Amino acid sequence: MPQPGVQAQTPALFEIENAIVADYARRTPGGHLSSMRLHITLMFVFLCTGGCPHVLAAPKNMILIIGDGLDDQHVTMGRNYLAGMSGELRMDQLPFRASVQVETLSPQGEPRYVADSANTATALATGAVTSIGRIATDIEDNDLPTIAEAALSAGLRVGLVTTSSLTDATPAAFLSHVSARSCEGPEEILGSTYYGIALPACPTDALENSGPGSIVEQLVTSGAQVLLGGGEKFLRQQTVDGNTVAELALSEGFLIIDRDTQLEALSAPQRLLGAFDDETLEVRWRGTKARVAESPQVSWLHHISDYLGEVTEPEPMNCELNPDYADTPSLAAMSRAALHQLAFDNPRGFFLMIESASIDKQSHERNPCGSIGEIEQLEETLALAMNFADSHPDTAIIVTADHAQAAQILPEPSLYARYPIPLYSPGRTARVRTPEGGMLRINYATNNGFSEEHTGANVPLFSNRVIAPWLKPFLRQREVYQAMSRFLFGPPPAPNKDGAEN
Ligand SMILES: [Zn+2]
Repeated sequence: MPQPGVQAQTPALFEIENAIVADYARRTPGGHLSSMRLHITLMFVFLCTGGCPHVLAAPKNMILIIGDGLDDQHVTMGRNYLAGMSGELRMDQLPFRASVQVETLSPQGEPRYVADSANTATALATGAVTSIGRIATDIEDNDLPTIAEAALSAGLRVGLVTTSSLTDATPAAFLSHVSARSCEGPEEILGSTYYGIALPACPTDALENSGPGSIVEQLVTSGAQVLLGGGEKFLRQQTVDGNTVAELALSEGFLIIDRDTQLEALSAPQRLLGAFDDETLEVRWRGTKARVAESPQVSWLHHISDYLGEVTEPEPMNCELNPDYADTPSLAAMSRAALHQLAFDNPRGFFLMIESASIDKQSHERNPCGSIGEIEQLEETLALAMNFADSHPDTAIIVTADHAQAAQILPEPSLYARYPIPLYSPGRTARVRTPEGGMLRINYATNNGFSEEHTGANVPLFSNRVIAPWLKPFLRQREVYQAMSRFLFGPPPAPNKDGAEN
């Protein structure tokens, strides 16, 4: 792992020394430069025993915000609803924007064009392309070092915040290594089922077989400062020595918090572990009376011929507050608590990954209001991060998605509405009234089953100026990892016409 603090800052020490010596030489012609230099050097050696070069540098902070499934269709849905067609989202106000190609491999190493959150989080966290379902492991099952682990090694603090289970694929890939995303807890690592279908086990990763343990066991022993999200059920599971994962976390020095904890009243610095729901946190919004996208209704005549009969599109809906959201901590509230813990009295800096997870999960469920509410949560969190960066200048912010999703915005009415034939999308459609008085017609048509699928388009990336010089307008997902690593650990970038002034 690179040790950037020392490599990057030691030259700065000598630059300061040289500047003082040069200044002394200018002011005192004929002065004893060699003895002056010796005195300065001794002074720095005296002052800097124990890692002074880091003290001289401003802390570097990296905030990576991942909107799971936040492709351009979702960004546009969010803008149309939250800001209006001619308005701007917070992410639109960031000065640099790129398009990111998502790469995926088959288990045999052939290209695949549609990803999942495990292999894409692995690309962002490790810079390596792997196959669907893998958590920071390559297709040969070798562990891939992550940027969060490199940050911990370099003395930075690390935090993961998500609206999903802490053990879900996106957070998992930053601080754990298993062959399958389903190996979330000590029970699942030996095999589990989902609706009666067997999920992959990770026998060689199990502690019973001298592996590193399940995802949750690896997370709580990783050295992270802050872990906030869902997945409480995994903390109740027993580890191989008979203790619960929660007890393991306590022995690692974590303060375990719950919904009764006043997040804003927590003192710092301390290690925080909060799982505020059994699995995924409830989402903020839903459609009218929990409606999601629906199939159009066709008259019996239409079954005889595509050119006959009538079609009735689903009734319009509004977005409303999901009553189950209730006292669920918001993504912004969790992120505020994380920033407080990570930044307090911290001369070294931090790496913080924040995920708005249910943009994707609600798109799987064909629930556009659910997705838009989680885009609003991401926007609030971005506003918080931008405010933080205003007062902490060396703070890089990247907002990106892991992969594209199923939703697409259709014309309302259809561009061919004047043709005298019943036209409708073969998928499911939701017609959402927007606050500015429009009708947002959202369609899901990746399959006819119980859950929509991811899609294969590029995803957007937005950043502030701090990290823009390491980025370029077209990137592979693994290059986002490289940019973050070079920002945190590497030397300053060479001038980059594409990135520097955008
Ligand atoms: Zn998904």
